Amino acid sequence: MTSMSLETTAAALARQLDCLTLGERLALVASLDGRAVFTTSLGIEDQVITAAIGTAKLDIEVSTLETGRLFNETVALIDTTEETYGILIKRFHPEQADIDAYAASYGLNGFYESIEARHACCGVRKVKPLARALAGATYWVTGLRRGQSGNRAETPFAEADLERGLIKINPLADWDIDTIRAYVVAEAIPVNPLHSRGYPSIGCEPCTRAIKPGEPERAGRWWWENDETRECGLHVAEAASQPIPDTKKVMAGSAA
Ligand code: SF4
Repeated sequence: MTSMSLETTAAALARQLDCLTLGERLALVASLDGRAVFTTSLGIEDQVITAAIGTAKLDIEVSTLETGRLFNETVALIDTTEETYGILIKRFHPEQADIDAYAASYGLNGFYESIEARHACCGVRKVKPLARALAGATYWVTGLRRGQSGNRAETPFAEADLERGLIKINPLADWDIDTIRAYVVAEAIPVNPLHSRGYPSIGCEPCTRAIKPGEPERAGRWWWENDETRECGLHVAEAASQPIPDTKKVMAGSAA
């Protein structure tokens, strides 16, 4: 699709999705021409979407980015979710050469030192694997919600992702966290036990802390940074454009 047709199609889809239930939204996406991929972080909203896809056996692939720095609880939940819904969750891992190059350039935990180093780590462990997960996809289903942070307050039901050449579908854009919590209880959906220990939003273990009462949902993600920079590059074009180390150059540099 051209950029203009991506935008036109996304706008029309957003209008259609607005008045549908979650199940109807996902069923509509599954019925469209082209491959649909849902990328799950195993967070509570993503578990709601996985449950809807798995229960209705919808033709939407489910993938996750296994960054190598996830909490053990998150990794265990991948298996539990597959067993519960009889589905396959495709794991996409970072390339070992990229990890080695990052460590040589910044240090394994260099992401604490600068925004550039943090975006570079997310680039290696998330953005590049995501590109492989979405290769050839027409529709990218996500669990983004407007209530998650100020950065996400305008999240539409469908939007053109011109950089990746696809349409991003956000079927839970209008759900609030209380509705999500009630839904997982009512539907007996397995969720990460860390949610009940103060982690409403869960990413990589070294970059996620529990939040304090009254803090925004994503305050525990990259807590040492300010609000404007706290995305991993998967959903923010500006962050995605941050420099990611060229593996070959860094490897050559480290060998010198
Ligand atoms: S969240 Fe942290 S550990 Fe995970 S990829 Fe980003 S910087 Fe690296």
